[in-house]
Amino acid sequence: MDLRFTPEEIAFRDEVRAFFRDNVPAKTREKLIAGRPLDKDDIVTWQRILNKRGWAVPNWPVEWGGQNWSPVQRYIFDEEMQLAPAPQPLPFGVSMVGPVIIAFGNEQQKKRFLPRIANLDDWWCQGFSEPGAGSDLASLKTRAERKGDRYIVNGQKTWTTLAQYADWIFCLCRTDPAAKKQEGISFLLIDMKTPGITVRPIVTIDGGREVNEVFFDDVEVPVENLVGEENKGWTYAKFLLGNERTGIARVGLSKQRLRRVKALAREVGLMDDPRFREKVAAVEVELKALEMTQLRVVAAERHRKDKKPDPFSSILKIKGSEIQQATTELALEVAGPYAMPYVPPQEGRNEPPIGPEWAAPLAPTYFNWRKVSIYGGSNEIQRNIIAKAILGL
Ligand SMILES: Cc1cc2nc3c(=O)[nH]c(=O)nc-3n(C[C@H](O)[C@H](O)[C@H](O)COP(=O)(O)OP(=O)(O)OC[C@H]3O[C@@H](n4cnc5c(N)ncnc54)[C@H](O)[C@@H]3O)c2cc1C
Repeated sequence: MDLRFTPEEIAFRDEVRAFFRDNVPAKTREKLIAGRPLDKDDIVTWQRILNKRGWAVPNWPVEWGGQNWSPVQRYIFDEEMQLAPAPQPLPFGVSMVGPVIIAFGNEQQKKRFLPRIANLDDWWCQGFSEPGAGSDLASLKTRAERKGDRYIVNGQKTWTTLAQYADWIFCLCRTDPAAKKQEGISFLLIDMKTPGITVRPIVTIDGGREVNEVFFDDVEVPVENLVGEENKGWTYAKFLLGNERTGIARVGLSKQRLRRVKALAREVGLMDDPRFREKVAAVEVELKALEMTQLRVVAAERHRKDKKPDPFSSILKIKGSEIQQATTELALEVAGPYAMPYVPPQEGRNEPPIGPEWAAPLAPTYFNWRKVSIYGGSNEIQRNIIAKAILGL
């Protein structure tokens, strides 16, 4: 199998690389390099820059703004975006609900929602998980009862990422409690401004506010906001979750993080320590192997006729998340004791963190990135998929 890029693919890579170099706003790039969180405005601004260039939704069909790129071109685009670094487009619209509306929604829903997703005029969040229904998602209990031309929704979602900014939420709701659990679920689009919705933050171990609980109390949803057929939501959810896993290896992001770790380690003299160099080299070797595996999956995709998610994407998810976490561990080691600055609160004093400024975001980033082995299907669930679909156990 030839894993080298063709001259056309190299030309495409150069074009994409130059675009990212010249168009990512400087303050956004600086935040990404330093590991500081982006705010809503950074994300919306970047999405609109991409949309203007026609690259906001490259994986969609051309008629809805897509690019008809080959799997290799898509790979190059994602890798260059992560290397730049540029913000990853918010997945909830572009990679989740957008493709579901394209595949299963009606014309009216496509016209109403797709252009607004591409331009991030509507911020979407994902209402799947519930207390007691995460890995076992089909056990979800949020109820949608049909009353005339409305559904009345009651229940609770949890871990809802960035729901505090959301205009819309796509939700899996139980419409037939008597049916087998996978068969009584529907896929609803709900306006977050509807009376009866409450969003409560969950503050995470890094001190951030990224996830939320969302409560529904007699929320009225017009039936026109049902996607596809009633009680067929599980089929659409499986389609969506298959899309969520692809691209999760984030090879470019880990390369960019390692670059940063090495630069900082040089600055503090840690690169002179052979033991630290060994640790960096071990992660780099794993990353190279992951890159080769990803290229093999991408190359094989060229020849695949079916569009089903490749079970090998589970391997990419596990290895990719482990490497992403390893890069945050190396960064902590570079900062040493300054990775966890402790500033005792004292009245009338507002002291900067102890140690260099670059060290301050490292511990929060380390804690925050524990999430990548949980969401998108936990790594244990990915191992189950590999056992069944690849090893045939
Ligand atoms: C930062 C973050 C953001 C998230 N954002 C969203 C979001 O926007 N929208 C949304 O709907 N959800 C979101 N989630 C939820 C995420 O999808 C779930 O956390 C995930 O599916 C796991 O479910 P759970 O947390 O209920 O854990 P559980 O399913 O209760 O699992 C607990 C532990 O048991 C293991 N386990 C469970 N079942 C098995 C099994 N069959 N075999 C082996 N091990 C098993 C799991 O791997 C895990 O280690 C987010 C989660 C995180 C951490």
